[in-house]
Order: sequence, then structure tokens, then C-alpha cells
Amino acid sequence: VNVNEFALECYKNAIDHGWGVDDEGNVIKRNFGEIVALCHSELSEALEEWRKGLDANYVYYRESDGKPEGIPFEMADVVIRVFDWFVSEGLDIEAFLSEKHEFNRTRPFRHGGKVA
Ligand SMILES: [Mg+2]
Repeated sequence: VNVNEFALECYKNAIDHGWGVDDEGNVIKRNFGEIVALCHSELSEALEEWRKGLDANYVYYRESDGKPEGIPFEMADVVIRVFDWFVSEGLDIEAFLSEKHEFNRTRPFRHGGKVA
């Protein structure tokens, strides 16, 4: 599958699990601030894994239900939330990724005079 197809799967899965729908199952427009906060929450989960001393590539599985845990899976959650948002807005993710990446390729070395 390509990126847009994968993102659509993420979106559909969220809907199927009751996220972004009202009590009757109708798809609702989520507040953008809520979307951003949810992305932050996944980054915070990744941070907490790091604070436990876990390596970036270390993964483990919760005993009760086999849930994948660890920094890579929390970072994956961020991407899944971002993909879900792109689809909910009807935006072509591949086009935005490509256009921005192409622009980034043209930027000068450490543009903006920043050191990191
Ligand atoms: Mg998570």
C-alpha cells in the first residue's frame, strides 16, 4: 500500500473504534487543538518510555493483551494520529510530504543560523 492508502486504513480503524464519531456513529469534525494535543500525548508517552531508560529500538509487549510498547510504537502512534488527521481533512498526504521534502532539500546547510 502507498502512504495515502495506509493513512486511510488508520482513519477507518479509528472510526471503527469509535474515535471521531458521535454516540450514533456519525463522523464528527474533531477540534484541531484536540488533534494537536493528542499528538503531543503520544510524544509524551515516548518521552516517558525514554525516561524509564529504554533504548530507542527496544520494544516489549504488555502481558495482559500483547499491546506493543516502547519508543518506536509511541512514535508510530504520532504518525498514525497525523495520518488520521490528513484523511479527515481530505488532504493528499503524499503530495504534502513530497512538496515539503523537495523544499527542504533546497534549504541551505543549517539554515536560519541555528546550531542544532
Ligand atoms: Mg501511545
